[in-house]
Amino acid sequence: MTKFVYDFAEGNKDLKDLLGGKGANLAEMTNLGLPVPPGFTITTEACRAYLDTGSEPPGLQREIGEHLAALEEKMGKRLGDPDGPLLVSVRSGAKFSMPGMMDTVLNIGLTDASVVGLGDDRFAWDSYRRLIQMFGKTVRGVPGEEFEHALEDLKHVRSTENDLDLDAADLRKLVGTFKGIYKSHTGEDFPQDPREQLAAAIHAVFDSWNSERAILYRRQERIPADLGTAVNICSMVFGNLGSDSGTGVAFTRDPGSGVRGVYGDYLVNAQGEDVVAGIRNTVPLQELAHIDKSSYDELMDIMSTLERHYRDLCDIEFTIERGKLWMLQTRVGKRTAAAAFVIATQLVDEGMIDLDEALHRVSGGQLAQLMFPRFDAETKAEKLGRGMNASPGAAVGKAVFDSYTAVKWSRSGEKVILVRRETNPDDLNGMIAAEGILTSRGGKTSHAAVVARGMGKTCVCGAEELDVDTKRRRLLAPGGIVIEEGDVISIDGSTGQVYRGSVPVVPSPVAEYFEGHTDLSDDLVRAVDRLMRHADTTRRLGVRANADTPEDAARARRYGAQGIGLCRTEHMFLGDRRQHVERLILADSDAEREEVLAGLLPLQREDFIGIFEAMDGLPVTVRLLDPPLHEFLPDITELSVRVALAEARGEKHENDLRLLQAVHKLHEQNPMLGLRGVRLGLVIPGLFTMQVRAIAEAAAARISAGGDPRAEIMIPLVGAVQELEAVRSDAETVLAQVADETGVVINALIGTMIELPRAALTAGQIAEAAQFFSFGTNDLTQTTWGFSRDDVEAAFFSAYLEKGIFGVSPFETLDRDGVGRLVRIAAEEGRKARPDLKLGVCGEHGGDPDSVHFFHEVGLDYVSCSPFRVPVARLEAGRAASEAAGSDSR
Ligand code: PEP
Ligand code: MG
Repeated sequence: MTKFVYDFAEGNKDLKDLLGGKGANLAEMTNLGLPVPPGFTITTEACRAYLDTGSEPPGLQREIGEHLAALEEKMGKRLGDPDGPLLVSVRSGAKFSMPGMMDTVLNIGLTDASVVGLGDDRFAWDSYRRLIQMFGKTVRGVPGEEFEHALEDLKHVRSTENDLDLDAADLRKLVGTFKGIYKSHTGEDFPQDPREQLAAAIHAVFDSWNSERAILYRRQERIPADLGTAVNICSMVFGNLGSDSGTGVAFTRDPGSGVRGVYGDYLVNAQGEDVVAGIRNTVPLQELAHIDKSSYDELMDIMSTLERHYRDLCDIEFTIERGKLWMLQTRVGKRTAAAAFVIATQLVDEGMIDLDEALHRVSGGQLAQLMFPRFDAETKAEKLGRGMNASPGAAVGKAVFDSYTAVKWSRSGEKVILVRRETNPDDLNGMIAAEGILTSRGGKTSHAAVVARGMGKTCVCGAEELDVDTKRRRLLAPGGIVIEEGDVISIDGSTGQVYRGSVPVVPSPVAEYFEGHTDLSDDLVRAVDRLMRHADTTRRLGVRANADTPEDAARARRYGAQGIGLCRTEHMFLGDRRQHVERLILADSDAEREEVLAGLLPLQREDFIGIFEAMDGLPVTVRLLDPPLHEFLPDITELSVRVALAEARGEKHENDLRLLQAVHKLHEQNPMLGLRGVRLGLVIPGLFTMQVRAIAEAAAARISAGGDPRAEIMIPLVGAVQELEAVRSDAETVLAQVADETGVVINALIGTMIELPRAALTAGQIAEAAQFFSFGTNDLTQTTWGFSRDDVEAAFFSAYLEKGIFGVSPFETLDRDGVGRLVRIAAEEGRKARPDLKLGVCGEHGGDPDSVHFFHEVGLDYVSCSPFRVPVARLEAGRAASEAAGSDSR
């Protein structure tokens, strides 16, 4: 027979699945001998059975009856007894905390008869009216405002604003009014059978698992929908029995900073819900030492017992009933990112946990939060609207509506925010010049978002309620607010909030530490330093950075990168060099093409020399050119308009016409799936060999200057081994030529990206021609799902996220089941064909905490991510390794 009900003395803290968090911890405290009001817990299994079938599972009523009888025996009182009744609370409690999402009913057991037994005084009638109110609202769906209005009306009649001014007679009258409200809505009298009250309250708690707000909360928090809630039946204790009673909440350390001390609030002569409702002001917990010294001392003892027992920060709810302390709840408490780091290392110093365990008490997500400057949380600044929190941080500056202005103004010392509908590669300079980027379209993997994250620059994207009018150079916000160019705005990349004016920014000591500026006097910085060191000694995965400039490479190195995993060369073809590429693509003779390539070669060589120098002694993976073609060609619509206008005006336009014909010829409906990557290299003769030559000559120059360049040449978007073989053979020829010409041997590895399902599925063949694989999980996600990277987030991802089809975008966290499966297959088959094959990943997922754990599991050698994510990846790689070691030894 399944057991559905557990006395508090029967459970323990590890039974959260069955007893929920609250029930398991009440049981744990009971077994520690702490003063917990006696009670019992109905399991989540009973709830699931009830929700599945619509009725209680067989045997549940009997078990509840037996436990209730035992409780009555223990308390020496009976539920609903007119001569001093036992009252109980009925509280929900799921495995994961869902604060305020489900139901609670207090004071079950009060009836017209038993209220007299409770004392027939102010307290008794107040308790009864609370029961009718809570029961009516949560169990029978009576609108809560009706009770509230009745209470307000009564206070009005009595000319007071304070509940405490109502006397027993008033409250007795209020009970009558409440019963009337109850009857008018339900058509029934308020139940006078305490067992009927109890059964109905239990069912209401079960049902509240599927309330709208609970469903929404679970979706947001990614809590499985099928867990169900436990129900805790607990004998009531009262904090509202006079000035020797009260209720409070406490933390064993400061959940904001981690500092040790006494943190909490206390409210004299009140019940828990009064604290939450904020009806009266609480006093700091320290005051309890003066109000009730012995309860205070006992509470301090209990708090230290709980901390030692749970080996972590605990939060607590307690009640004092006529000088007697009762523990109503405890759990491992939530804390800020800063407190998480500080507390984890404190607990190591206090001998409660070891450093491995400390690593699991923090996360890369928390570290990322700590690295960004933030706005003052108390800001009263005017909100303009909200977009997606694409790249964290806090940025303040004058709104500018094009990149040219961004660069110009920033050169003259202005701080600017680049505001665009969406950005494209042409905006790169403006993005670099700006403090932050705001767009009204596009999602978290839009151009603006990806590039901003790469730069570590604050970005809010897809703020659809803001109308960006680049022509009139202004921004329209809801409510008719107009922001003209030059007006100051503030954007919060951690929350997506956009403000008018300048919001004060608080700098991050943790970012300064990674930059090497800070000493270790700050508690938080010391904690971060200690855990980072431990992660570095524990991790197996290498961590590299995606960087295209010597400055980014140098920053990545300061942040602990062990090389560059992706140097995107297309960024080297923008700006002034763009015309060269346009000419190259449109060249209609070999001679013209060769002339352009010869012009590009020295520029590329200098690019690589700078990067090799910054990364001296460490690997640098240079990816050959991979942009979709359209990024280098003039906009087809603009060009068409220009030609049509010139025609109409009878002006000369042969060049534009020739260009338009060529652009038409090359125009693609799906440029992301078009002529890019290796395809471009194979179709435009000399392009890739020019790049290989530039890499080889740069490496030779560095070697001659006493440097130690470690070049790796990476071919993008390969789908078939034949593509790779063709490019590789040309590349080897060039490497040999440069070696001959310079007399310097260059040992560059040649490998490929795995970005297409076909590449993953034929990895065994491809590995024969590749010395390394780097998984391009951005494109691999795009091509596996058939989602266009540039469009989907704006088009339908928010609907998918809302409906719970995704918990998180697969462009953000690797889809282990689909894309991950391809990665696993390619890694296994690649290594089978070539055991020394080096494996890495350089898609955005390389800096995503959950994905890093997956890459550790499948045995990659390194992850590569934007420089600012490098510390996050180091920490998560350490956590992944120690987690795996922990489970091996178990
Ligand atoms: C990728 O596709 O994952 C990748 C790193 O390349 P890009 O984002 O430049 O296409
Ligand atoms: Mg790619």
